Amino acid sequence: MSIADNLQRIRHQIAEAAVRADRDPAAVRLVAVSKTKPAALVDEAALSGQLLFGENYVQELIAKAAAVREEVEWHFIGALQSNKVRQLAGLVTMIHSVDRLSLAEEIDRQWGKLGMSCDILIQVNIAGEATKSGTTAEELADLVRRVSMLPHLRIRGLMTMPPFFDDPDAARPYFRQLKELAALIAAERIPGVAMDELSMGMSGDFEAAVEEGATLVRIGSAIFGMR
Ligand SMILES: *Cc1c(COP(=O)(O)O)cnc(C)c1O
Repeated sequence: MSIADNLQRIRHQIAEAAVRADRDPAAVRLVAVSKTKPAALVDEAALSGQLLFGENYVQELIAKAAAVREEVEWHFIGALQSNKVRQLAGLVTMIHSVDRLSLAEEIDRQWGKLGMSCDILIQVNIAGEATKSGTTAEELADLVRRVSMLPHLRIRGLMTMPPFFDDPDAARPYFRQLKELAALIAAERIPGVAMDELSMGMSGDFEAAVEEGATLVRIGSAIFGMR
């Protein structure tokens, strides 16, 4: 299967899942996760109409962004150290993985230096797994309130990685919980906080995520093959 075939199949599956849930398929954006894959494959995907990509590692993203020839947009989706944020400023249009105030403050500082604002998502570790990043559901509201004070950030929504990302049925309750958390936060009407984006769903479970309200699905291996 070519990348173009994979993209076509996945777009179709996303659209079908959206329709099953009475959602507008256009409300779901596909983030093609290109980590470990060469720039040439990003260009190949871009030439078949996929213009939004996600990367997990700062160094890899910088090298790849310089090598890609097509005009594409990058989201950062991986665990992020504050001392690497400076290198991302202006390069990515969204960071999905903000999980602590100190990181948000550094993003605010670096984007502010450029006179820009950064769209961010707060990553929630819904299952409370020790090995995963993300704020806990209990700490979420407090973190959102604090981050909302930072002038060069726009909180657009939430992101999660459920414990069972190969089993859609096992992951579904976590997707549902993320949506419920977003609704609770939205009801607080905190100035500067929109809760219109839910980043959830990967190669093994994106259809369930779309049925549960995902607006951003992060798909790697189903597009580019095994890593
Ligand atoms: C690698 C990765 C993905 C994509 O995973 P696949 O199973 O290859 O689709 C999505 N989100 C994050 C945060 C990742 O690290």
